[in-house]
Parts: sequence; structure tokens; C-alpha cells
Amino acid sequence: MFTNIHNLPDPVVAALSADKYNSGLVNSSVTTLIDSPQIKILSRKHKDDISIDVSERLWSVLGTAVHNMFEDYADGEYLSEERLYTEVKGWKISGAIDIQKSEKDGSITIMDYKCTSVWSIIFGKSSWEKQLNFYAWLAHKCKGKKVSKLQILAVLRDWKQSEAEFKSDYPKQPIVVVDIPLWETSQQQEFVEQRVALHQQAEWDYLNGNPIAECTAEDMWLRPTKYAVMKKGRKRAIKLHDDEVDAQNHVETLGAGHFVDKRSGEAVRCEKYCPAATFCPQYQRSINERD
Ligand code: SF4
Repeated sequence: MFTNIHNLPDPVVAALSADKYNSGLVNSSVTTLIDSPQIKILSRKHKDDISIDVSERLWSVLGTAVHNMFEDYADGEYLSEERLYTEVKGWKISGAIDIQKSEKDGSITIMDYKCTSVWSIIFGKSSWEKQLNFYAWLAHKCKGKKVSKLQILAVLRDWKQSEAEFKSDYPKQPIVVVDIPLWETSQQQEFVEQRVALHQQAEWDYLNGNPIAECTAEDMWLRPTKYAVMKKGRKRAIKLHDDEVDAQNHVETLGAGHFVDKRSGEAVRCEKYCPAATFCPQYQRSINERD
């Protein structure tokens, strides 16, 4: 259910609430399989009670627009938006690959478009590696293709010229290609089977009224608590520690004028982005424990 709390004009609301995504007649798609089963099951169970404001859909819709823009110009050795289907452990699964580029040696490069933040480029995203290796496995299984390279083509929605000029690790332009590690086929196979088994078990547990697998720290985009060693009068931390005792010991070696500043961690997805948060026992329990 969509809301329009900012009273945006009708054409904007219509564009932001349109959803043309179609994963085909399958049990699951690659993007769902690499994500948390708990989010999928809770979102489905409570779909009539979950309301999303259309303004929250902006980046997702812009991402689709970026895909469409590049898709229109893919030809020659570039194959765009091919959806591949196969069966794993009795489940039919599918994945749509943004771009497959034919290489001279007969292999292919797989690329995925992402409309993302500069932060993702600087710190990386493990979900990209999982998604692209899942696609590589799919291309090999369905088409017998050897995959020689995986890449993300990232459009950086928050890129700033001023930062690019002065920060060494900042991307130098607003659109960048990022190489992604390619796993051995055996590792891809093991990962695919493990993800399908996890989701099958969760569906079984849900149907039988059992607790379903909880989200991992990675699923929740957990930013851990840090302990900053600070000096009075200085804004930046001397060092960030994961452990409070280590930070206290460090302060003692530095002497007077130093102290520890606790920077509390946060489950970023639960707090700000998960549509199922209101109905999630894991998140509600963590709120109760925190309070
Ligand atoms: S609220 Fe957090 S723990 Fe619960 S389903 Fe969403 S991401 Fe997972």
C-alpha cells in the first residue's frame, strides 16, 4: 500500500508507485535468494499492512530508469537483460543478467548496473559479489558459457566534484566500473545450493508454525559499536577500537587529556529501510533489550 504524505503531483506518484518487475513463474529469483528469508516471508505475510510512502521509492525507480537507458543502446557483442531459468533442489529459479559481453576467446563478461552511493564504492558491498557469482553460475549452467570477468557499472547518485578533487580514495567521476572477484565454479555451486536450502527451510518452518531463520548481521546492515580514543580539543578520533577495554588501555598509555567516546552501533536496515520491521520479532526483541 502506497501513501503520498508529501502531496506530490499525480504523475510523480504514478511513476513512483509503478512496479513492472517480473521474475517469471518461479519459486524464487537470484536477488531474493541472496537476501534474508525472514524479510521475504514477513513482507509477504504482512503485505496488506505495510505502507510505503512513494517518496521512499525514488532511488529504486531511478535505478530502473538507468537500466532502461543503457538497455536501449546494447547491441553487437553486448546482450542485454537476458533472464535465465533453471532448477535447484526442486525449485525453479531465475535471474536477469543486465549485460553479457562476448569476449574474443568465447567467454563472457557479466555486468550489473547499480545506481548507488559513493560509500558503496569506497567500502564495497558483499552482496554484489554474491549476486554476480550467482549469475556466473547460472550462465554456465544454462548456456554452457565460461565467465571470465564480473563487473559492476556504478552510477553514483551522491557524487561531488569538490570531494573528488581533494580525497584520494574518492571516485574521480560519477560513473565507474568496479571489478568483482570471480569464484571457482565449485564455490558458486556450494553457495547456490546453500542459499536455496536456507530459503526452502524457512518456507517449511513458516508453513509449520516454527520460528524462521533470523537475519544475520550482514542482512541487517549492522554497523558495530566503536570506541573512539579522543583528545580534548580535537574533533577527529586518534583511533577507533572494536573493544572498550582496548580503548581504555590505549587512553591510559596516552595520559591526561584523552578519553573514550562510545559510538553506538546500529542495525541500519532494521532502523530505516526494512518494510517488515514493525512485524519482525527479531527487531522488536532487540528494541526491548535495548530499552
Ligand atoms: S527488521 Fe531487521 S531483523 Fe527484522 S526482517 Fe528486517 S532486516 Fe531482518
